[in-house]
Amino acid sequence: MPIVVQKYGGSSVADIGKLRSVADQVARTRAAGNDVVVVVSAMGKTTDNLLGLAREAALPPDASVAGGSAPPEPAKRELDMLLSTGERVSMSLLSIAIHARGLDAVSFTGSQSGIITNDRHFDARIIEVRPHRIEDELARGRIVIVAGYQGMSYKREITTLGRGGSDTTAVALAAALGAERCEIYSDVDGVYSADPRIVPDARHLPELDYETMQEMAECGAKVLNAQAVEWARRHKVAIIARKTGDVAGRPGVRETVVSNETSADGSRRAVVVQKNLALVCAERSAAARLAAVAERMSLPFGDLTLGPRELVAWTPLLNVPNWGEVRAELEAASLNGLSVREGHGLLSLVGVEVGLPSVVGAALACLDATPELVFSHPLRLSCVLPDAALDAAARVWHERLGPCAGAADRLTA
Ligand code: ADP
Ligand code: ASP
Ligand code: MG
Repeated sequence: MPIVVQKYGGSSVADIGKLRSVADQVARTRAAGNDVVVVVSAMGKTTDNLLGLAREAALPPDASVAGGSAPPEPAKRELDMLLSTGERVSMSLLSIAIHARGLDAVSFTGSQSGIITNDRHFDARIIEVRPHRIEDELARGRIVIVAGYQGMSYKREITTLGRGGSDTTAVALAAALGAERCEIYSDVDGVYSADPRIVPDARHLPELDYETMQEMAECGAKVLNAQAVEWARRHKVAIIARKTGDVAGRPGVRETVVSNETSADGSRRAVVVQKNLALVCAERSAAARLAAVAERMSLPFGDLTLGPRELVAWTPLLNVPNWGEVRAELEAASLNGLSVREGHGLLSLVGVEVGLPSVVGAALACLDATPELVFSHPLRLSCVLPDAALDAAARVWHERLGPCAGAADRLTA
């Protein structure tokens, strides 16, 4: 039987009613003659809630002792132990709900599923997948439910894969199992030319190539996780993004297929917003010491540029739970000319030829706020702007330079 990997995100399993609907959908997939592996995220906002609890637990016994200094932050190793429990709750509940439908199912954690990662905590990378237990259970005719977003490092520590990492679990398993396809279910019926919550005119994209999708994901389009798209591209796994509950092929039901086999002309454009990043600037002479702090604190950088005199970089804070500590380390390292600013975000235009001077010029001319930084790559033009200016700027770019633009209509699917 063909193997189908399905992933259901947090909003799809936010309560028992939704989880029971997912069990029905899994049962239908099974009845259609597939071996099914299901990857689940934690229910609703569980991961955020657990993070909140950890922050409270980290406060000193007498909160007044902390004075005006930043509150202490929980250790990343312990956060991984804690956050990985969120997905365990949904995996076991889904397995129970599938049993209730008369089907045989078994749930596994990331480590039981053979997801081996490097030794970074909070944003580990998968380095190998050994899905033997899953294969054995599929051979026994069982549906396998896997806790997303987690693995075990080669040092046998529990790790998590970065926020949104359940997508990565699904794609990595699909690749390792030779699955026919990897279906990612969320609250949106595929990938749009911008986040439809921010840009109401965003257009649905029925097909996308890996390259464009990876660029979008790396800029912060959270509909698909960047590491997941990278795996899919490397192992040629087709990703199908759908809305939970939608039945493929029914009239009016839409989906996005991310693969190499797009019939589109590869010249689409999308606008992507990523909030909550920090901007780090220093004199160029501080580069080596900055790199050393970043390495020691496992600080991820997005774009980093070294000019003749200055170094500038942005870092996404979503996967830096100990930002207060990292910031204090940066400030203690006596880096010449250091400035660290939060409250910024990234606005990106993704697609071919977006780095052309005419496009860059038009993009900058229609912004109300002055960008702190502008980066141009072959497939991406990005600006760092204050968080508060991002949504409005995204709507303007989408209208003037995205698929809705009159002259740029050729860029639409
Ligand atoms: P899940 O919790 O199921 O993994 P996410 O919240 O991570 O789902 O991803 C789905 C969300 O991604 C949508 O609700 C939408 O707001 C957002 N999103 C951001 N960019 C895009 C885009 N280009 N197309 C579609 N959705 C997008
Ligand atoms: N539960 C994790 C998160 O909230 C992983 C995921 O949803 O993919 O980031
Ligand atoms: Mg997600």
